[in-house]
Amino acid sequence: MMYGALEAGGTKMVCAVGSEDGKIYEQVSIPTLTPDETIPKILDFFKDKNIAALGVASFGPVDPDPASPTFGYITTTPKPGWADYDLVGTLKSELNVPIGFDTDVNGSLLGEVTYGDSKGISDAVYITIGTGVGGGVMTNGRLLHGMLHPELGHMLMRPHHSDTYAGRCPFHKNCLEGMAAGPAIEDRWGAKGTALADRDEVWELEAYYIGQAIVNLILTLSPKKIILGGGVMHQEQLFPLVRKEVETQLNGYLKTPLLADLDSYIVPASLNDDQGIMGCIKLAVDAYKMG
Ligand code: ADP
Ligand code: ZN
Repeated sequence: MMYGALEAGGTKMVCAVGSEDGKIYEQVSIPTLTPDETIPKILDFFKDKNIAALGVASFGPVDPDPASPTFGYITTTPKPGWADYDLVGTLKSELNVPIGFDTDVNGSLLGEVTYGDSKGISDAVYITIGTGVGGGVMTNGRLLHGMLHPELGHMLMRPHHSDTYAGRCPFHKNCLEGMAAGPAIEDRWGAKGTALADRDEVWELEAYYIGQAIVNLILTLSPKKIILGGGVMHQEQLFPLVRKEVETQLNGYLKTPLLADLDSYIVPASLNDDQGIMGCIKLAVDAYKMG
């Protein structure tokens, strides 16, 4: 049985066909222009693939509530043409298969706990640090939505005492995304992250914010695993720095076996940046089983 996967991003739409074990057989990447330009290309890719179901993990905010009249919509994006766009409805009317739908970050988290090193973990957080910051949450084996879905990239940060940077989020200035996403690094230090690899102070400050966010997530969600992905986390020297910050900022308040081994608790994404598209396969498998 073949399943379709659509990782709908703000810059590109990755379309793939794969099997339940997570193997990808064919994959294309289509630039995200307007829906009129992009959706026909997506439909064209899937139309002769004989997929049993489709899994869609999308940039957002989105409406992931199946009981809502706007389920499967991209809601408030500034991206031209995509605000209040009925993504699932459009795909469904053309492809006529069950569709599983979630946020891009929940998709990546699902990929990691289904096919990656975190396989089988029931309570986990996935954070991506790239052009923006986003996070997916699983509790008791279920992806968390609640009222909408978590937007943990916008949690407010207490600025480091040495940091004079105001933050660049248009809504909050000094939220996690405003202080620590790739564009914030570039803005603060005057060069892209890739060109700053050997500047220790860059990554120490970056780890301070990521560590602070993780402490907040540990205290609010009590996850059993924290998985970090996205372009910025390709700076592998960040991992030990982040773990150190978490230890320092928790300051001994919690003592659990998992926190005693932070190397195993705070880990990189393990699927070669395929966690998103593989998570879409799992969304499709689950949608197929639900009918
Ligand atoms: P996106 O978030 O757009 O899907 P990425 O996760 O690749 O894509 O994030 C892009 C951002 O991450 C850019 O701001 C870029 O400068 C930064 N970035 C990408 N790769 C690296 C790297 N190896 N080291 C540091 N920063 C990086
Ligand atoms: Zn913000």
